[in-house]
Amino acid sequence: MAIQSDTYTKHGLARYLVRIPGLELRENEPLSRHTSFGIGGPADLLVIPSGPEALCAALAATYDAGIEPLLLGNGTNLIVRDGGIRGVVIRISTEMSALTFDGTRATVEAGASLATVCLQCARRGLSGLEFAAGIPGTIGGALIMNAGAYGGEMGDVTEWVEVATPDGRIERLSSPELSFGYRHSALRGLGRVVVRAGLRLKEGDPSEIHAKLCDTMSTRCEKQPVSSPSAGSIFKRPEGDYAGRLLEAAGAKGLCVGRASVSKKHANFVVNLGGATASDVMRLIGAARELVHEKCGVWLETEVCVVGETAANGA
Ligand SMILES: Cc1cc2nc3c(=O)[nH]c(=O)nc-3n(C[C@H](O)[C@H](O)[C@H](O)COP(=O)(O)OP(=O)(O)OC[C@H]3O[C@@H](n4cnc5c(N)ncnc54)[C@H](O)[C@@H]3O)c2cc1C
Repeated sequence: MAIQSDTYTKHGLARYLVRIPGLELRENEPLSRHTSFGIGGPADLLVIPSGPEALCAALAATYDAGIEPLLLGNGTNLIVRDGGIRGVVIRISTEMSALTFDGTRATVEAGASLATVCLQCARRGLSGLEFAAGIPGTIGGALIMNAGAYGGEMGDVTEWVEVATPDGRIERLSSPELSFGYRHSALRGLGRVVVRAGLRLKEGDPSEIHAKLCDTMSTRCEKQPVSSPSAGSIFKRPEGDYAGRLLEAAGAKGLCVGRASVSKKHANFVVNLGGATASDVMRLIGAARELVHEKCGVWLETEVCVVGETAANGA
């Protein structure tokens, strides 16, 4: 369908998007409802596709209107600033989460929960995703930053990824083209949207896989503040060390700004004590980083993605 010139305004674009089958549209949607931190100002337009076709149509219309959309999975690695997003956010989550198996191979849509895929593999005696037990993001979010833990990462099990281009076409990229590295993939900053992925698992012993998942989960519960709202690890692991160890050594544990606090359980987690703003979190991250720099001489790099505008009052 040709896009009319009125798509070049926010409301014109909304009127166009609303006619795309399989697309849910919300205006001025608070993104605090869509982030694990429970923090974030509103998106002008939040678009939720129910499948790849609706996603491609929404993507093409949004780029055609001169707007680069922000992609959102489960919002578990994201700080959305208090002013929110002036533009379009496309959320790919449970509505786009089909999962099929063919022997040791799995094909999974980007919105599937990584933890659920990991459990489904375990049930079939398929090994390779045990590291992902308890990682609360989507497959799409996990591929973008090569999520990993306990010696495993997405790159180890990914054969190919299908992405949507700004003009709404689907392209398949093979694993070598994705250049997976520590919390990095070539997908980051490419302007491509993860639509689905092909994973290659190995046959394993279901009871051993299950035991590994239980071990991983109990380690997480023991060491991480899993019941408090957070965005997981704030800083990347610096060369030869751990961000959590440096933050603890520098005395950052328990440091607070407003209602945001460096977790007393794990210093690389910032938790929302209830009512924290993104401004609280960003000031706390800045203070913790300065502290580590001053005491340990290391400048920590953030792992979490920060997006959006500051609020009109500067918060
Ligand atoms: C308690 C807790 C524990 C965690 N533990 C770990 C851990 O052990 N290891 C680890 O690596 N991470 C961990 N995380 C962080 C987070 O869960 C992962 O990074 C996860 O993969 C992010 O997925 P998401 O769907 O939430 O992505 P989001 O936070 O929604 O988005 C993250 C980035 O990916 C982009 N994106 C999302 N979906 C798509 C898509 N379909 N196409 C293109 N771009 C997309 C977004 O634009 C954004 O830039 C943890 C988080 C929490 C809260």
